[in-house]
Amino acid sequence: MNKLVNKVAVVTGASKGIGAAIATSLAAEGAAVVVNYASSKAGADAVVNAIVAAGGKAVAIKADVSKAVEAQALIDAAIEHYGRLDVLVNNAGIYEFAPLGGITEEHYHKQFNINVLGLLLITQAATKHMSDGGSIINIGSLIARRMPANSAVYAGTKGALNAITGVLAQELGPRNIRVNALNPGVVETEGAHAADLVDSAFGARAAAESPLGRIGQPGDIASVAVFLASSDSYWMTGEQLYASGGRR
Ligand code: NAP
Repeated sequence: MNKLVNKVAVVTGASKGIGAAIATSLAAEGAAVVVNYASSKAGADAVVNAIVAAGGKAVAIKADVSKAVEAQALIDAAIEHYGRLDVLVNNAGIYEFAPLGGITEEHYHKQFNINVLGLLLITQAATKHMSDGGSIINIGSLIARRMPANSAVYAGTKGALNAITGVLAQELGPRNIRVNALNPGVVETEGAHAADLVDSAFGARAAAESPLGRIGQPGDIASVAVFLASSDSYWMTGEQLYASGGRR
């Protein structure tokens, strides 16, 4: 209950799904948490209210991570509210699938802008304030390793995320800022339902492929994020971890 006391965390895309679970779990360990959202104010407010009701600290801040001005404003708001920044979870992301012939400029730019450019913009703004070291957790995907058909752009964004994780671990290590990638397998979230990854042949196959016999839940990822955020993982940086129920 106290691994992150006196720490401040920003979790992007925390209005629902994996981000909401990570924000809640970081707060349960004592961190003050900035719950970022793009459009779902009600979802972000519900996450904040649950954290506060449990005795934690949190605030909801709207920002589209793919816009430099908004990314900067999100980090400015975090500093204004809590005065420091120790943990950044780059979770905001979208996933859309298309075969090669179906890839359009829009399909490409939308996913790369949020999943890759957004990560870079937020990290650039956040690391200016990580004066006392820190932990950055980039939420990738098992898809970058399994590379299934029809995922060229989305898998490309997550492959880039894993590569960027290694590069930034090199650049930020001398400042004692650790950077690690946490790659989930299929997790039951609103986004996964909308993409038909859960109640579908795909979801059933994913569950069957796991030695543990099911797909993931957001809390399965949040507990690993707490580990990466805390000093329990102090000697780990530049790593690509997989939380996929053994499907790697
Ligand atoms: P989700 O249920 O669709 O939720 C996405 C979150 O990202 C929402 O909070 C959304 O905010 C936010 N978001 C979207 N665009 C944004 C933007 N431009 N700026 C700021 N926030 C933005 O997604 P999820 O399934 O929890 O996935 C979360 C992360 O895990 C993603 O990076 C995804 O690629 C990765 N992942 C998911 C799975 C899975 O099976 N679920 C597997 C592997 C990896 P609003 O609601 O306000 O729009």
